[in-house]
Amino acid sequence: MSETYKLFIDGKWTESLSGKTFESLNPATGKVNGTVAEGGGEDVDLAIKAARKAFESGPWADMAPSDRGRLLNKAAQELWRKADYLAEVESRDNGLPINETKYIAIPVMIDVLEFYAGLANKVQGDTLASPAGRFNYTLKEPLGVIGAIVPWNFPLMLTMWKLAPALAAGNTIVIKPAEQTPISILEMVKIFQEAGIPDGVINVVPGFGKDAGDALSSHPGIDKIAFTGSTSTGKLIMQAASKNLKPVSLELGGKAPNIIFDDANIENAVNGSMFGIYFAQGQVCASGSRVFVQDSIYDDFMDSFVRKAKKIKVGNPLEQTTQMGPQVSLEQLERIEHYVAAGLEEGANLVIGGERFKTENDGYFFTPTVFENVTNDMTIAQEEIFGPVLSVIRFRDEEDALKKANDTLYGLTSGLWTENLKRAHRMVKGLKAGTVYVNTFSMLDSAAPFGGTKQSGFGRELGIQAMDMYTETKNVWVDL
Ligand code: NAD
Repeated sequence: MSETYKLFIDGKWTESLSGKTFESLNPATGKVNGTVAEGGGEDVDLAIKAARKAFESGPWADMAPSDRGRLLNKAAQELWRKADYLAEVESRDNGLPINETKYIAIPVMIDVLEFYAGLANKVQGDTLASPAGRFNYTLKEPLGVIGAIVPWNFPLMLTMWKLAPALAAGNTIVIKPAEQTPISILEMVKIFQEAGIPDGVINVVPGFGKDAGDALSSHPGIDKIAFTGSTSTGKLIMQAASKNLKPVSLELGGKAPNIIFDDANIENAVNGSMFGIYFAQGQVCASGSRVFVQDSIYDDFMDSFVRKAKKIKVGNPLEQTTQMGPQVSLEQLERIEHYVAAGLEEGANLVIGGERFKTENDGYFFTPTVFENVTNDMTIAQEEIFGPVLSVIRFRDEEDALKKANDTLYGLTSGLWTENLKRAHRMVKGLKAGTVYVNTFSMLDSAAPFGGTKQSGFGRELGIQAMDMYTETKNVWVDL
């Protein structure tokens, strides 16, 4: 059943000022999932004013940090109570298999909220060594109004990575969901409201990137913009924020290398690499989309990987047994097809997949795909596909692996599989990435900082450090 959704500004559900709406589609069927008010620049302006008011006066501004933490924990409890419902909403919204929303995306999202709720009353400044006759200390203060722009692959989880530390530190926020997936975020905000979050603290303005997104990132009334999305959009956001010299944190794209050495436990490496590329239909910034396999184990690895990949069950994301759902949109499906064509044209060998997966519905399904004989200069080895398309590349030795792995614009995550401890540490040191997985892949924890180097962005979300991205240090000098 298709529902209608409004903007959430100053604690009220409102139509957009333009009166425009847009349709959010269920990617498994291509049918309308909900009709959503389309926010534009004027709506963003209202939301920022509401967030400013809530930051400067009223219950949120006056709230003790421990009470803020308690309120966030209350919201977390409500989210746990409705976790199964949210998992289903998210799966309908973006096509993630229900087992991935129910057991990964939603629990991780709530855990993040609990983690930062616990930090709300642990924000600390320093007492500094002071010269005689002076007292010198620092305060950690909230920044003010945070603009958050999020993508469609994990709408709730990636929103929470910003929302939770921002609120724990005492800020208020305006969220711009991705146009493909606004619904689960609007449903989540209802739960925050029921938990008693004061009006204006959280505002959500669904809409399109070039309108609502640009208005938010170029607005003089925000104090920071926190963005997750593509590298190309990240550059636009940085330009927009630079007009008012607003700080930005950017979690951008990736093209992660996943390196399998000949001394690895092959079965574990195959299973980890499958998860690395096919989790969430490959729509993961951390996705291990380039697998490097050492020459001597190449055939063994490939035999096992391909045998298992052929058995992946693609289909209705709401069925418990489904392992891969649809891609998020027709546009994304066509983008993947474009990359498959480029791979073939440039001489890679298509081992399996490479085509749409047919179901009785008109969903945006694609088959698990493996290319081999890929070389680093090919488009499919360099550009982020954001789909279930694996490029397999051979390597000779450690030096060769490291050179090829680092030959990319990106530097978000990377993985390696070896039983040799010294080699593992040498590789960890050499790999240019924000996260390195050794004998595992795509791990996340609320306490573990996540973010990129190179064109994968800057700033670290999660972990205690993320509180620094939502606070300003004020130095105070007192003449005694
Ligand atoms: P996208 O950049 O197209 O869109 C992301 C968000 O930016 C959306 O809300 C969109 O409306 C908004 N946007 C688009 N143009 C804008 C503009 N000019 N000004 C302001 N906002 C604008 O990315 P996507 O296709 O939604 O998501 C996929 C990308 O996100 C991939 O590149 C992926 O690697 C990246 N991603 C990164 C991480 C990470 O943590 N590093 C996590 C998930 C996704």
